[in-house]
Amino acid sequence: MAQKNPLLQTFEHAPFSKIKTEHFKPAIEEAIRLAKNEIEEIVSSSEAPSFSNTIEALEFAGSQLDRITSIFFNLNSAETNDEIQELAQEISPVLTDFKNDIIQNADLFERVKKVYDQKGELELTVEQNTLLDKKYKMFTRNGANLNDEDKKQLRDLDKKLAALSLSFGENVLAETNRYELHITDEKDLEGLPKGARSAAKMLAKEKNKEGWIFNLHYPSYLPFMKYAKNRSLRKEMAIAFGAKGFHNDQYDNRENVLQIVKLRHQKAKLLGYPTYAHFKLEERMAETPEKVNSFMQELLEKAKPAAKEEFVELEKFAIELEGIDRLQKWDAAYFGEKLKQKLFDLDDEQLKPYFEINNVIHGVFAVSERLYGLKFKEVFDVDTYHPEVKTYEVSDENGKEIALFYADFHPRQGKRGGAWMTSYKSQYFKDEKNERPHISIVCNFTKPTEDEPSLLTFNEVTTLFHEFGHALHGMLANTIYPSISGTNVFWDFVELPSQVLENWCYEKEALELFARHYETGEIIPDELVKKIKESATFHEGMATLRQLSFGMLDMSWHSIDPSEIENVKEHEEKAFAPTRLFPEVEENCMSTSFAHIFQGGYAAGYYSYKWAEVLDADAFEHFSEKGIFDRETAQKFRDTILSQGGTEHPLTLYKRFRGKEAAPEALLRRAGLLPKKS
Ligand SMILES: [Zn+2]
Repeated sequence: MAQKNPLLQTFEHAPFSKIKTEHFKPAIEEAIRLAKNEIEEIVSSSEAPSFSNTIEALEFAGSQLDRITSIFFNLNSAETNDEIQELAQEISPVLTDFKNDIIQNADLFERVKKVYDQKGELELTVEQNTLLDKKYKMFTRNGANLNDEDKKQLRDLDKKLAALSLSFGENVLAETNRYELHITDEKDLEGLPKGARSAAKMLAKEKNKEGWIFNLHYPSYLPFMKYAKNRSLRKEMAIAFGAKGFHNDQYDNRENVLQIVKLRHQKAKLLGYPTYAHFKLEERMAETPEKVNSFMQELLEKAKPAAKEEFVELEKFAIELEGIDRLQKWDAAYFGEKLKQKLFDLDDEQLKPYFEINNVIHGVFAVSERLYGLKFKEVFDVDTYHPEVKTYEVSDENGKEIALFYADFHPRQGKRGGAWMTSYKSQYFKDEKNERPHISIVCNFTKPTEDEPSLLTFNEVTTLFHEFGHALHGMLANTIYPSISGTNVFWDFVELPSQVLENWCYEKEALELFARHYETGEIIPDELVKKIKESATFHEGMATLRQLSFGMLDMSWHSIDPSEIENVKEHEEKAFAPTRLFPEVEENCMSTSFAHIFQGGYAAGYYSYKWAEVLDADAFEHFSEKGIFDRETAQKFRDTILSQGGTEHPLTLYKRFRGKEAAPEALLRRAGLLPKKS
């Protein structure tokens, strides 16, 4: 068996054309067996625990399993089918069990702890120290230091929390699916574009109904709120959207919210942290709830005056246009869009001819060459999982190999939506060899047609730059250990390389490299560039307040002892008070459908959206100071950030690049909320 399974042979590139779905299960089982042997070898060693025989050995244990599972899960996202999806259901719990076995392996932890306790005497490098901390925390954050009774309580809490999150999510989904707006009079569609109308018609057809149906799923809800002229219907939709999980019935999520925050708090206390936010933030760039709170407070103070002005301006515009009395939540997107049209008169169709996909790809390559001296050569002899996937050899100025780069641009059946960066092989250094990474980006960009090439919307252009920024973080990695290489950094730091690269899309000097009309070859006119820039930050003050309101609500639940909280709505109103612009809606509650923090992984982490923006604006301002293609600044960014992965605390890395901590002013200047530097 092992002889024939391509996944169990040694390979440099993922051997896609030889892999059949049935190869995965036996390969993963075999790789788990090998990994278990490797762990067993560490545990049963007769030598005293050392950094190399324990920490380093643990780091490289299971590397084959990592490579096989990365191929498997990448395929499950980019080129899946029923078989692969079923297999994923089967394999995921097996992998979770394997990971739990390691974390709960008391003998293994004992050895790790022995090394950790000698840390002061070991003379480790900075990177080794980080790895040691990381391995030790992996155990202790999961209760390894607790007595047996507390360990049992922790498992119990984790189990209950998993069940509560699941139930929270099921309620949100049930509530989202339960509501529909059924329109039978075409007049009520006034303002809606063709696409939204036909989608609504389809929804109605699926339910064997006449007319049009809109629901609370984003693709239906958002266009309705943005374009539907009928204000009372917008109000109905908005209130339905905001009342999910808040109906005093079997789908009500209030009790789930209270239970979740209370159990999370208990878990944190059990592990020795004052609050759940302290527990989560220990492994974040932001470090502490105090720092997150003061970060948001500072941004709030600086953005609020602009947000209020925008609000007043929008309300005035709405009163003039349609004679409403007060601007309400359900008016924001609708009148905002109208005002934006009036001010900028900019739509995708005007821009698309300048962004033919091949031009944009060459653009992002050209920008990387100007910044980092990278060269991209398309190659045709690397195995791929689909003929549409392109492969490139990436090298530096001296022709030295940097990475292998896969790019998969267009939607297909079997590919999930969105855009992402991933890797098939991490960079690491072992046996005197610097193993170079295999990095991939996967997107769903507009496909070419028979008579038109693929022309990207501006949003797609920034998405490509964004994912490519992540890819650079992966490709330029230069560390020893794979688990802290490339994008393996603290979670609120990972968006810096991606978001910072988006900035080049707004710069004339960069656009001139690639934004040429696909028919005439004309470079994008200055006037359009100016409009793109200005419209990108339209209503940035209000948008900032909205993001802050979510971040503050999140922290309000997780950075205190919640045992006294009884009324979800009341608690929420208090948390929202500093950011409120629109009149309060009694029927609504945000927390009861705030899936990011009660179902997904964003608890005590919502702030990171704004955090990442502050970082990227601050970093980009450093680039702009000497010119956006200044090689010295780029080299510094590469040396201090892109090549370093998670080898040091991100705050240290960032300060080394910037000379100081990031401050919010650059973001506010970019958004036009503060005057530009002269
Ligand atoms: Zn990203």
